[in-house]
Amino acid sequence: MSEVRHNWTKEEVLEIYNKPLMELLYEAATIHREQHDPNVVQVSTLLSIKTGGCSEDCGYCPQAARYHTNVEGNDLMTVNQVKAQALRAKESGSSRVCMGAAWRNVKDGPEFDQVLDMVRTVNKLEMEVCCTLGMVTENQAKRLAEAGLYAYNHNLDSSEEYYKEVISTRGYQDRLDTINNVRKTNVTVCSGGIIGMGETEVDRAGMLVALSTLNPQPESTPINALVAVEGTPLEDEKPVEIWDMIRMVATTRIVLPETQVRLSAGRTQMSREGQAMCFFAGANSIFAGDKLLTTPNPDVNEDLKMFKLLGLNPQKPFTKKVQPETVSAENSKYQSLQEKPKWTRPGHKIKRNEEARLKS
Ligand code: SF4
Repeated sequence: MSEVRHNWTKEEVLEIYNKPLMELLYEAATIHREQHDPNVVQVSTLLSIKTGGCSEDCGYCPQAARYHTNVEGNDLMTVNQVKAQALRAKESGSSRVCMGAAWRNVKDGPEFDQVLDMVRTVNKLEMEVCCTLGMVTENQAKRLAEAGLYAYNHNLDSSEEYYKEVISTRGYQDRLDTINNVRKTNVTVCSGGIIGMGETEVDRAGMLVALSTLNPQPESTPINALVAVEGTPLEDEKPVEIWDMIRMVATTRIVLPETQVRLSAGRTQMSREGQAMCFFAGANSIFAGDKLLTTPNPDVNEDLKMFKLLGLNPQKPFTKKVQPETVSAENSKYQSLQEKPKWTRPGHKIKRNEEARLKS
C-alpha cells in the first residue's frame, strides 16, 4: 500500500508531474487501484444557492460583482427550492449535493440559519451534503456539522505564490484557517484548485504540496480547468490542454492517495477519451448537471452514456464515512455568536483585475 506522506517537496512533485506519460499513468493507476475501486465514480450535483454579486475579486470568477459578465444575480434560494433540486439530483444518480453561495464569508443571521435548514433537509434525503460558502469560523463550522453537513469545500485555488496574482481581497492563510476550523468538527474537507490561470508547473506542484501537507489530507480534491469567461480578468487565457489535465490528475492521485479526486470545471472542453484517461489516472468523482454554478457542464444523459460506455458505476452515498446525524435547531448546542471575524484584505494591486474592473 502506498503511504500517505505529508512532507512532499515541490521538486519531488514536479518530477512526478513531468515523468514520461506512460510511466506516470501506470504509477497513478496502480495507487488508484490499491486505494479505490477503479470502476466506481462519485457523482455530485453543484447547486448555486446564491448567485452573483460577490464582493471578492477572484480573477477567474464571473460572480464577482466588480467584473462585467452575463451572470444574473439571485437571492438565496428557499429551502423548498433546494429540496426539489436535491430530489431531482438524487433521481439522476447523484449521491452528493454541493451548495455554493457567492459570499466572501459566512455571516451569522437569518441567511445562515436558512442554509442550516437546507443542510438538515438534504441530509434527511439520505444524500451527502457539502457547502461552499466562503470563509467560516470555528463556531459556524460546528453549527454546520450539527445540522448534518458531510463536507465543506474551500479551495486553495493555486500555489501560495500565484494566489497573489489572482486574488487580492483575502489571503492564502485565510483559506488555511477556514480549513483548520472545519477540521475541528467531523465534517470532511474538500479542497483543490484551478489550472489554466497562467500559472507555471511549479505553481501546480506548489498547490499539491500545500494540499498534501495538510494533516489529515483533504478527503476530496477538485481539479478544475479554467473556463475563461468574458469580462473576467482571465478571459484571454487559453483552454487547458487535455495532457495537462491528465498529468495534474495523475500527480494528485500519487500525492493524495486516499483522496477522492474530482474532475470539476472544464469537462465540456474534454472528449470522452480524455475523461477516460483522467479516470484511469485516478479521478473518481465528477460534477453532474448542465451547469457548474454559472459555467456550462456536460448534460446528465451524456454522462450516463459515458458511464455505460466505460463500465463505471456511481458511488453510493456514505460509502467512505457514515451519515452524520442532524440535530434540530431547537436542540442545537451551538448558537449564533454574532461574530465579526477579521478575515484579511491584502488589497495589493493585480493589474489584470484592475483592468477588468475598469473595463466593466
Ligand atoms: S470565487 Fe467565490 S469568493 Fe471569489 S468572486 Fe467568485 S463567488 Fe466570490
